[in-house]
Amino acid sequence: MYLAILMAISLFFSIALYQISTAELRRGLNRPVPGMDRRGIDSIFDELRSQIMADRQAQFDESCQRLINSLIIVNLLILCGGGFLCYFLARRTLRPIEESHAALERFTADAAHELRTPLAVMQSENEVALMDSKLSLKEAKLQLNSNLEEVARLTQLTEGLLRLSRHDGRELHREPVAVNEIIKQAVDRMQKQAVEKQVTIQSKVTGDKAEVLGDQASLVEAVVVLLDNAIKYSPVASKIEVTSKSSSKLAEIVVKDFGVGIAEADLPHIFERFYRADSSRTQDAQHGYGLGLALAKSIIESHDGTICAKSQPKKGSEFIIKLTKIQ
Ligand code: ADP
Repeated sequence: MYLAILMAISLFFSIALYQISTAELRRGLNRPVPGMDRRGIDSIFDELRSQIMADRQAQFDESCQRLINSLIIVNLLILCGGGFLCYFLARRTLRPIEESHAALERFTADAAHELRTPLAVMQSENEVALMDSKLSLKEAKLQLNSNLEEVARLTQLTEGLLRLSRHDGRELHREPVAVNEIIKQAVDRMQKQAVEKQVTIQSKVTGDKAEVLGDQASLVEAVVVLLDNAIKYSPVASKIEVTSKSSSKLAEIVVKDFGVGIAEADLPHIFERFYRADSSRTQDAQHGYGLGLALAKSIIESHDGTICAKSQPKKGSEFIIKLTKIQ
């Protein structure tokens, strides 16, 4: 399509150029031969004039032919060069669309797989229970409890998916937000969960009043994800540190725990959707679906910030959010 448009423009200009050039040449062809206007008086002049006119006609024909040849070469060059350029540009334009399409397909497949597992478990357990003619009330209650656990996991998954999709398409309401306020609200939200696991959250916020431009609720949600993970992957009765720092241009929020840590091989992938490090899979049922950090990353990146993780297995992890400060 690009090439067809390019060639149409090129041919249009070539024809116009040809018409203008031949019109100019024809004007030269028809101009009178100087000093030879004594038509019919002297036959030698007549002969000489027709000779000159014939030469001019030959030159005109040759010039037209050369012009046509040059225009054909130029158009062929435009066709080849333009074809290559158009192919290159079209691939470049389509690459992000292809990537997002592939990511969407991967995401849908992963989500479907995660949804299918608890459903399959519930289906087979219920079928077995229904076939058991001697099923006691106690066994039936156990079965219902198991179903409820699976339903809770499904709810957790759909909530995670919903939060991600809500954030993906949402217009951010940007306003000046104090970094310390983000930390305070996130810590308040996670306090109950921390107390249940006897984990202490120490927030080491400085007196610095750094502010960032952003959506407060989303930023709090990102820190909540980090705190939620820190609590989940820390041993009972341990501590978590939340620190705020700021330099001349950046405001930082650091969430540090002393829990199971993350293996070096897993670190580059933990922000991917549905990625779960193996060490966490082997833990109890509290592990999630690998959507939390993807959400946190998406929130921070939509605020033009960065999020990264450092970790040492069995020693703990540190997550660092960096956002541009309002000057
Ligand atoms: P999940 O809901 O499974 O915790 P996340 O996207 O929040 O999903 O985290 C992805 C993976 O990164 C987790 O499965 C876990 O293995 C690892 N992870 C995240 N935070 C921590 C942490 N503070 N300590 C240890 N591992 C962590």
